[in-house]
Amino acid sequence: MQIVFVGILNHKPSFCTVCKKSITHKHKPKRDWNVGGPLCSDCYVDEMQKYYDLSVKQKCVICGIEKNVPDLWEPRYQWEMKGLLCKPCFDKKETENEKLRTFCNLCGTKLGFIRYDPKKHWSIQGQLCRNCWDAQKAKNDQ
Ligand SMILES: [Zn+2]
Ligand SMILES: [Zn+2]
Ligand SMILES: [Zn+2]
Repeated sequence: MQIVFVGILNHKPSFCTVCKKSITHKHKPKRDWNVGGPLCSDCYVDEMQKYYDLSVKQKCVICGIEKNVPDLWEPRYQWEMKGLLCKPCFDKKETENEKLRTFCNLCGTKLGFIRYDPKKHWSIQGQLCRNCWDAQKAKNDQ
């Protein structure tokens, strides 16, 4: 009697809890994923990836402190950096960058509305006042 009952249960079609696809091979989600039922293999892999991303730790690329990825900040794209930053380093970098944008990076003159971007091959960060830009141009581009 019991054997028949189990047989019927096993033939009930199952559906993936996430994508609702009918599944032949059920994957049991891990308890901490907060998924109520079985998953198809695609969704299982997705969930695993999501959970892994959340739990994985990474180091701040500037100070090297290890933090959970959700507590780290992505650098702004203008910074041309790879990796993640902790909040203090992010703030510091942002302030530094603000400074680079406000003052001539060579003589420290406060830049007005008109400022000059150094050419790539000058390898100078930030922006320059007119005088320094002219001087660099004379020095580098003769
Ligand atoms: Zn699915
Ligand atoms: Zn840091
Ligand atoms: Zn200057």
